[in-house]
Amino acid sequence: MAFLRMEQLDLDQKTVLIREDLNVPVKNGKIVNDTRIRAAIPSLKAAMGAGAKVIVMSHLGRPEEGLAISHQSEFSLAPVAKHLEALLNCSVALVDDYLDSPLSISTTGADIVILENVRANVGEKSNSDELAKRYASLCDVFVMDAFGTAHRAQASTHAVAKFAATACAGPLLAKELDALEKSLRNPERPMLAIVGGAKVSSKLEVLQSLAGKVDQLIVGGGIANTFLAASGFNVGKSLYEPDLVSVAAKLMEQTTIPLPIDVVCAREFSETAQATIKNVSEIADDDLILDIGPQSIAVLNGIIGNMKTIIWNGPVGVFEFPAFAAGTKAIAEAVGKNKGFSIAGGGETITAIDQFEVTDAISYISTGGGAFLEYVQGDELPAVQILNERGS
Ligand code: AMP
Repeated sequence: MAFLRMEQLDLDQKTVLIREDLNVPVKNGKIVNDTRIRAAIPSLKAAMGAGAKVIVMSHLGRPEEGLAISHQSEFSLAPVAKHLEALLNCSVALVDDYLDSPLSISTTGADIVILENVRANVGEKSNSDELAKRYASLCDVFVMDAFGTAHRAQASTHAVAKFAATACAGPLLAKELDALEKSLRNPERPMLAIVGGAKVSSKLEVLQSLAGKVDQLIVGGGIANTFLAASGFNVGKSLYEPDLVSVAAKLMEQTTIPLPIDVVCAREFSETAQATIKNVSEIADDDLILDIGPQSIAVLNGIIGNMKTIIWNGPVGVFEFPAFAAGTKAIAEAVGKNKGFSIAGGGETITAIDQFEVTDAISYISTGGGAFLEYVQGDELPAVQILNERGS
């Protein structure tokens, strides 16, 4: 990768604008999950430790562009600023008029500054050069560290890198890209991808791209139902996509895709539904397939155990309902036990990994959902492409 890395620069006394992804779930002013904030802490500490004057920027949710955050305060980064103070053990000033007046960290009296939600700025989503020039004018060095938003070309992730005096990749972004590069560009083989989740349509390009790269592809969840239908099985009332049955059939010709032998069914999509294990040839018209069964788990355990590289995105069942969580739990544990290199990404996958307490056993967990998938399908992430263009 041709981009400059933050560690290569002398940041002493420089004003450094760091784009992080601090888009955390907030309910009634309280942060529900602070994983993304914690992931950003080492980068912020590294910049502060190198003598930089640090300004952080991020988005939070989807505020209305052009409307002041004071009029849509549920999108304010105030709870994030407060939480950063606790995690960094320093004072953090939240500034919201940074586009209109010159910004000086010293006049805030705080150790670092965080800019109010960038998504409320006119031109953020359209990647406006004019807005990006304003961001760039706030700093000597722009650091792109938000892997989770690197697949979006927006003023604070992309255009700003064109205009900042110096633009580089932050430690978190670089770590994510290094891990993905290691697993995808030059993987140790055999290589396995596990793609689960709800729909084939939302992961079609990923499936097509992976089918050409991996030695085995395990499909799970609602996605597996379309493959079962393509193999001639009745899937009853299960979530599946009839339009994509022929695509699924083609993918099965391209690479080895083991299908479930048995599944866990219900008559309704509900947490309290009665769970029944059935062979895939026994599915009735009013059955819903909500998980894989014990025989399927045993087969997949064997496959996962033999792999040297594993990429995982998406649960293999409705793991949010305890009666249908066993398949995803078994996959999580098997990936955790594998001695090769494993990488997992995507919101639901990370939740499942957390729930089944295998976080420390997976080699690398990516913080990005959409960015993770786009990278896996071979797209160059716009925020990385512009850093590469600026070069080292
Ligand atoms: P995705 O965002 O595509 O990764 O989908 C994740 C969601 O897929 C989870 O919330 C699961 O509950 C859901 N899911 C997994 N398996 C099934 C299934 N067999 N039927 C319906 N939904 C499923």
